[in-house]
Amino acid sequence: MEKWEIVIIGGGIAGVTFGYLAQKEGFKTLLLEKKGKLLDSASGVAGAFLFPKVGLDTPYTRFINQGILEGLEFWEKLGVGVEKSGVLILPRDEKDRVKFAKYRTQITLPFEEREGGFFFPDGGVVSVEGVRKVMERELNWQGKEEATQLEETPQGWIINGKYLANKVILAEGAEGNFLPQYLQIYPVWGERIGLKTDFSPPYHLHKQVSISTNRNGIVKIGATHKRNCFQCKENWEEVEELLEKARKIAPITGEVVDIKGGFRASSRDYWAVVGEVIDLKRSLEFDPQLLKGQPPRKGVIYRKNLYILNGMGARGFSNSVITGKYLLQLIKGQISPDPHLSPLRHFIRYVRKFYPKG
Ligand SMILES: Cc1cc2nc3c(=O)[nH]c(=O)nc-3n(C[C@H](O)[C@H](O)[C@H](O)COP(=O)(O)OP(=O)(O)OC[C@H]3O[C@@H](n4cnc5c(N)ncnc54)[C@H](O)[C@@H]3O)c2cc1C
Repeated sequence: MEKWEIVIIGGGIAGVTFGYLAQKEGFKTLLLEKKGKLLDSASGVAGAFLFPKVGLDTPYTRFINQGILEGLEFWEKLGVGVEKSGVLILPRDEKDRVKFAKYRTQITLPFEEREGGFFFPDGGVVSVEGVRKVMERELNWQGKEEATQLEETPQGWIINGKYLANKVILAEGAEGNFLPQYLQIYPVWGERIGLKTDFSPPYHLHKQVSISTNRNGIVKIGATHKRNCFQCKENWEEVEELLEKARKIAPITGEVVDIKGGFRASSRDYWAVVGEVIDLKRSLEFDPQLLKGQPPRKGVIYRKNLYILNGMGARGFSNSVITGKYLLQLIKGQISPDPHLSPLRHFIRYVRKFYPKG
């Protein structure tokens, strides 16, 4: 049996970023990916735009924008290829314009007002190919290895009967085998395109859709969001939708040379879900208070050393560094769980909704 300190299940942006950070901290880490290469699901189709969030100064806005700063710095240092030319974020309509006026005093990142919107120097696009190249070289990883069995033993977690791990990280994205039911992570379809064009903006643009700067004659435009579209495939209607929205930003013409689509793993409230997995059955037995639809009095029972790293939604590239660092600190016992990221709040909501009040 191969012995590892950490085994990560899933080689999307969440899994590879955490894997890299953990390996650098000295953990003996193995990543298992069911496909033949890394970043081949949602992460492989992403526009990989790292654009700040414009909004009220809430914990969520702060988390996203801190993630953008840490992400840009990390990917630049790693040399994966980052187009950090800044981004101009424009209001989508009159209503949005009014909101933008309120947001002006709430923004905590450096910005300047331009063309009716906000220009952020901290806006960039990461090269997915670049990330894949570095991660495939740097990580201990096993492709074409789907984790189908996960067994808890006194020695540790056994995966597929052949890997023994002290800790397991479930970074399976939208299509996982081990997604705890109570997390209610659901797939949201999205499409983005590559357009061969002469259009060459000085910085990235965003208004409903994002447009990248021109790289080798191509700009990326993304993305659509389709909930409850479980059978969705790449289609021309969404290409038209993207082009129409892009033309509301600038008179852009060209030839569509690339259409990519995939499923984002979304949580109910957009926050990523990171932390130790809760044992539903044992927790309900341990603290019957939960069955009354109330927060636990005695606490919940965790599946020790089994962690979830998921629910990245539309911002996996923006969030992967901040969530990866957070998970590492959590594992090392350096911090307590952040209630926004912890699976606990999903667990309580799920029990309240789906279990009879006693
Ligand atoms: C069209 C589109 C555009 C997007 N644009 C952006 C953007 O501009 N900026 C941004 O930040 N985000 C963007 N996103 C969102 C981003 O792509 C996702 O948030 C991110 O890819 C999620 O990463 P992940 O690692 O959680 O999941 P995934 O990328 O889905 O990775 C999960 C991996 O786990 C593997 N796996 C699953 N189960 C198992 C198992 N049991 N055993 C082994 N392997 C397993 C899968 O094969 C997969 O490779 C976009 C998404 C889409 C669809």
